[in-house]
Amino acid sequence: MKLNILGSDWTVEYRNADADPLLKEDDGYTDPSVRLIVIANKREDCSIQDYKYMQRENLRHEIVHAFLFESGLGFNLEHIEFGHEETMIDWIAIQFPKILEVFKEADCL
Ligand SMILES: [Zn+2]
Repeated sequence: MKLNILGSDWTVEYRNADADPLLKEDDGYTDPSVRLIVIANKREDCSIQDYKYMQRENLRHEIVHAFLFESGLGFNLEHIEFGHEETMIDWIAIQFPKILEVFKEADCL
């Protein structure tokens, strides 16, 4: 899948966790060097019932990261002291669909 994020083309790929070492500990990641977002496919031992729901949420999370990279705010991502606050990334990723609905309802876009 291709996405246009702030004018740049990004690729989204779904990969099996055992085929990508970077998915060993995470369910997704963003590689700004090649504008790539990778989302993990369901693992065999995964007990989450609606994995598609989780994948959509993970994709939103990584898209927020991509927006930050394209905004010039993506560096020091792994820096504990100055990196992005993952809780806030998740908050945006989880609440954005609801915020968008309210924005539409309020006709304030
Ligand atoms: Zn993150």
